[in-house]
Amino acid sequence: MIVLKIENLHVKINETDEEVIKDLNLTIPDGEVHVIMGPNGTGKSTLSQTIMGSPKYSITEGTISFDGKKLNDMATDERARLGLFIGMQYPTEISGIKNVDFIHAAMNAVADKPVSVLDFMKRLDYVMDFLDIDESYTDRYLNEGFSGGEKKRNEILQMMMIQPNLAILDEIDSGLDIDALKVVSKGINHMRDDHFSSLIITHYNRILRYVKPDVVHVMMGGRVVTSGDYHLAEQLEQNGYAQLRDQLGIDV
Ligand code: ADP
Ligand code: MG
Ligand code: MG
Repeated sequence: MIVLKIENLHVKINETDEEVIKDLNLTIPDGEVHVIMGPNGTGKSTLSQTIMGSPKYSITEGTISFDGKKLNDMATDERARLGLFIGMQYPTEISGIKNVDFIHAAMNAVADKPVSVLDFMKRLDYVMDFLDIDESYTDRYLNEGFSGGEKKRNEILQMMMIQPNLAILDEIDSGLDIDALKVVSKGINHMRDDHFSSLIITHYNRILRYVKPDVVHVMMGGRVVTSGDYHLAEQLEQNGYAQLRDQLGIDV
């Protein structure tokens, strides 16, 4: 069984030396979809980028492991080869690199042997059709001039092409209209099986109408303060974070 395990994690921002993640614990087993909700600035994006190995952040204490392997000092491409994938809150725009070439290269980087152009195109056709993405898309540069919704759809396209074991999706639902939200959810649900897990970071529970989570975690002050099922997200939507803080008797 492939498990993401985070124990007593402390993370600081290199540029400011500020500790953002403070004693965070989280376990995501194979086959499960977990959601993290939490107020702005609480460290959700920092956590996701740290799992992927961003050089902007340093682990000062604790461990992250995946499939029994410690990730702390592992390069990002090695983590990708282990089956980790991140869809970023603000996907990067790169002019001069075509979307399709980027995706093909990303697939080759994690595959045991190169994916032939024919196999690549066949799968791309299938996934683009599935996600209702226009053909003109293949010639466009990576995220350049994409609307917010197109960028998020593109992250899901990448995920479905690369087929990771664990996908971290940071605010994949932000700025989406209802049709795009349905497409994104359809992509995540299509990936769901015993060998795929996901960590969805979100502010809203509307995506949870389409993607049913196994576990919902709430993050405040740089750590997971409580976890539950779908009802926790509903409760949050109704009562807000302030009430949860009172209920838990925490001061962050
Ligand atoms: P969230 O995703 O929960 O909204 P973030 O992880 O983006 O929170 O940010 C947590 C805190 O760390 C915020 O105060 C943010 O301003 C700060 N922070 C995150 N990344 C950086 C960075 N690269 N440089 C400076 N400050 C950062
Ligand atoms: Mg934020
Ligand atoms: Mg964020």
